[in-house]
Amino acid sequence: MPRAVIENMRDLPLPDFSDYFAEVEASLYADRIHAGLPMEFSRGCWWGERSHCLFCGLNGGSMTYRQKPAGQAAAEMIEMSARYGSSRIEAVDNIMAIDYLEKALPHLTALPEKLAIFFEVKANLKRHEVEKLAAAGVRWIQPGIESLDTRVLKLMRKGTTSAHNVQLLKWCRQYGVRVSWSLLWGFPGECDAWYAEMASWLPLLHHLQPGPAVRLRYQRYSPYHYTAEKHGLKLLPAAPYRYVYPLSERDLSEQVYYFEDSEDHDVGGHFTPRDENRPGLNAVAKGIDAWLKAWRGPTFSMLSMQDNGDEIIVEDTRAIAIEREHRVRGLEREILLAADEGSPETRLCDRPGAANVMQGEIDEAIANMIARKLIVRLDARLVGLALWHPYTPILPLTAFPGGYLDRRSTPVALPRE
Ligand code: SF4
Repeated sequence: MPRAVIENMRDLPLPDFSDYFAEVEASLYADRIHAGLPMEFSRGCWWGERSHCLFCGLNGGSMTYRQKPAGQAAAEMIEMSARYGSSRIEAVDNIMAIDYLEKALPHLTALPEKLAIFFEVKANLKRHEVEKLAAAGVRWIQPGIESLDTRVLKLMRKGTTSAHNVQLLKWCRQYGVRVSWSLLWGFPGECDAWYAEMASWLPLLHHLQPGPAVRLRYQRYSPYHYTAEKHGLKLLPAAPYRYVYPLSERDLSEQVYYFEDSEDHDVGGHFTPRDENRPGLNAVAKGIDAWLKAWRGPTFSMLSMQDNGDEIIVEDTRAIAIEREHRVRGLEREILLAADEGSPETRLCDRPGAANVMQGEIDEAIANMIARKLIVRLDARLVGLALWHPYTPILPLTAFPGGYLDRRSTPVALPRE
């Protein structure tokens, strides 16, 4: 059935959480609950309007992007924070409005006491944009990273590249912004060799924030669902629904949100991924496990650098480090600086320190930087992996802007009768 759709976001009222906060205050757990304020500033997705990510069913029939004006969004955050005495704000939007970077964040940066804000964002943010987010209190984001292989990203129409994603993870570690992301796999048309390639360089990223590997699920309203045939898919309602709802397959098909490809089912209708025999994917799964383990602490590894104008001193505490300290000069220093911006390899000779240098020498210097594990070559770009010293420490999990429940093991003392 068609639903009513809000066209003008600016007219939506602020949410009223007063009953919730009254209950929290009266609760025995009041001192353990650090509530976050869920707020909505936009609906739909401006990227999906241009190029709908094939797996995404988030917006149903209303992808058209509608947003609150930037100034109003900032003012509402400030007002809600004052009203409920919490600086934690979780934006529930699918994607942050483009003009918030320039028009909403400065109001928040100017606050004497920063808010702690979460936003979902597009992954192709540049360094100065991540810096702006952090300065405004947006210290936790969920970017649509989804993969670290450009060919997989292209398959899903994500509009980003592997280099964008690694750069974003680097800038987030640089400015102390927490990142929630996942590596999706199982896209129609993907090739196992791509995953084998990805697995070979994952250990280089152990100083950056990891995300779990998650199998793609087919969602209603996604292009994979409404053009299934085009992608070689025959979608059936996901198996668990059958155990929950006593409905015919046809009724389920008309109602459920998650689907599985019939190729992934055996004759009994049980889920058996056709991707079982995939050495490349298995290597990525192991690589991600090792990366997640490296991030369980107590200390995180680091790859950072300082430049004195003549020499870059790199400190490397990753498990994969060749040496703890590197001193990089001359042409190699020039390459490291270019790679920090994720430069295309062909533009290297435009740099002052690399002009008039023979291509053979440049190739040798690049090979040396790669062998020292300080840069990675992704789609003909050189991507530097080191952060600049000093960097901002990453937030603890307890700082999640959506709220935090302190699960101390000591029981709460019950009031006497
Ligand atoms: S996955 Fe994110 S960016 Fe892509 S269409 Fe959906 S909401 Fe938009």
